[in-house]
Amino acid sequence: MFKHNADWSLAPSLAPSALLRPDSTEKLSKVVSICNLHRRPIVVQGGMTGLAGGATPQSQEVAISLELMSGVEELDPVAMTLSALAGTPLQVLQEAALQHRLVLPLDLAARGSCSIGGNLSTNAGGTEVLRYGMARSLVLGLEVVLADGTIVNSMNKLVKNNSGYDLKQLFIGSEGTLGIISRVVLQLQPQFLATHTALCASNDYHSAIEVLNALKRGLGGGLTGFEVMWANYYRRALQVLPSITDPFRQQHPFYLLVEYKDNRAEESAEWFESQLYHQIESGFLVDALVAKSRQDAQMFWRIRDGISELLNSKGIVSNQDISLPIHLIEDFSKALLKKLAENYEGIDALFFGHIADNNLHAVVYADRADDAEDIERDIMELIGEFGGAITAEHGVGVLKKDYLSLSRNHAEIALMKTLKQAMDPANILNRGRVI
Ligand SMILES: Cc1cc2nc3c(=O)[nH]c(=O)nc-3n(C[C@H](O)[C@H](O)[C@H](O)COP(=O)(O)OP(=O)(O)OC[C@H]3O[C@@H](n4cnc5c(N)ncnc54)[C@H](O)[C@@H]3O)c2cc1C
Repeated sequence: MFKHNADWSLAPSLAPSALLRPDSTEKLSKVVSICNLHRRPIVVQGGMTGLAGGATPQSQEVAISLELMSGVEELDPVAMTLSALAGTPLQVLQEAALQHRLVLPLDLAARGSCSIGGNLSTNAGGTEVLRYGMARSLVLGLEVVLADGTIVNSMNKLVKNNSGYDLKQLFIGSEGTLGIISRVVLQLQPQFLATHTALCASNDYHSAIEVLNALKRGLGGGLTGFEVMWANYYRRALQVLPSITDPFRQQHPFYLLVEYKDNRAEESAEWFESQLYHQIESGFLVDALVAKSRQDAQMFWRIRDGISELLNSKGIVSNQDISLPIHLIEDFSKALLKKLAENYEGIDALFFGHIADNNLHAVVYADRADDAEDIERDIMELIGEFGGAITAEHGVGVLKKDYLSLSRNHAEIALMKTLKQAMDPANILNRGRVI
C-alpha cells in the first residue's frame, strides 16, 4: 500500500483511510456516489508521479486509484485517434501509437509511471510543447465522473465541435478538483521519418535565446525540442549517472539539447548540421555534438532526464517549475541564488528547463531541511516580483495553494471557487488542493 501514501513531491506522506481500485467507469461512479452520500473526502490517484502533492492523501481521505483502469480501447489509424482508460501509463500509449507509425506527442521523464489521467488533470507539459503544445492540445474527448457519481460521456472524436461549452476543458488542468477523468480520446500525429538530436554548448544565456530563435526560423515546425541545462545541473546529472561520460572535452556554462524532426531522411541531416554550424560561425554556440546513432541521442536525453535520479538524492528542499518571460529567466536564476544564499546555509540551486515555453525548473539544496518552508515562500515571492507563474507544469496541488494569488487575480480565484462549489458542493473531490 505504501505507494499510495505519497506522490513524488516533498509533501508529507500519509496512509489513506481506505484504498479503492475500481476497474470500470461504472464501479468508479458507484464508489464516488457512495463517498458523496457519506461526505467522505476522496483523493484521486493516477501514477503518483505528481510533484505538487495533489495525489498524496490528506487526513481521513479515501484514495481512489485508477491503476486498474488501464489499457488502449481503440486506435484509429485513419482518423489518427486513440481512446484509452485514464489509468493507462503514458509510455504504453506512446508505444501503441508507434506500432502504427504514429506518435502521441507528449513526453516527460516520468513516462513509464505517470498515467494519462494524471497528465491531463495536471495539463502536463514536457519536452515537445514547443511543437505540439501542452497536454490540453492533444485531447479530443473525455469521459468524466462527477462528484455525485454522474458519468459525463464526452468521448468526442471530432477536431471541430463548437456545439456549446467545451466541457472537457473544465477537467484538464483542474487537478481532480472538479471531476475524475475515466477515459480519454487523444489526437495522434504522423511519425516523422528522421529525428536529429544535438547536444550543444554556449557561453551565455543570451546566446541560447539567439540559437533558439534562429533554429525556429531555420527549422520551422521541425524543431520539436529545445532544452537548456545550466552547467551546475549538467554536472550534477552526470554525477548521478555514472554510466555516462561527459561527451564534451571541456566544461561550458550552458548546454542545449536540440531535437529536429523531418520527413526528408537524408537532406534533413545536412540541413540540421548546417543550421548548427551557422550558429557556431555566428558565435552563439561554442560547440555542437550531433548524435550519429540512436544510442548517442538516448545518451544526450539521459542527461536531461537525469532529474529522475536527482530527485532521489539527499538535501533537496524545494523543486520548482516556474514560468517566466524568456528574457528574464537568467536574471531570475541569479536573483534566486543571491536571495537564498543571503538567508540560508548551504544553498545550491540547479537550473534547467524548457525555455522555449518560458519554463524554468529549479532544484534547491540547503543544509537544513527545516528551512524548506521559508525557502519555498521566498521563491514564490520572487516569482511574483518577476511577473511569473508559480507553476508552469506540475500544478498547484497542496504545496502551492497558499501562493495562488501571486499568479491569479481575485476575480479569477473567485470564479474557480464558484465552479468548485457548483460541481462539488460537498467538497469531497481532492479537497484542499488548488483553491
Ligand atoms: C522525474 C519526473 C519528471 C517529470 N517531468 C515533468 C514534465 O516534464 N512535465 C510535467 O508537466 N510534469 C512532469 N512531472 C510531473 C508528473 O509526472 C506529471 O504531473 C504527471 O502528469 C502526473 O501524472 P500521474 O498519473 O503520476 O498523476 P498523479 O501524481 O497520480 O496525480 C497528479 C494530480 O492529478 C490528479 N489525478 C490523477 N489522475 C486523475 C484522474 N484520472 N482524474 C482526475 N484527477 C486525477 C491527482 O489527484 C493529482 O492532483 C515529472 C515528474 C517526475 C517524477
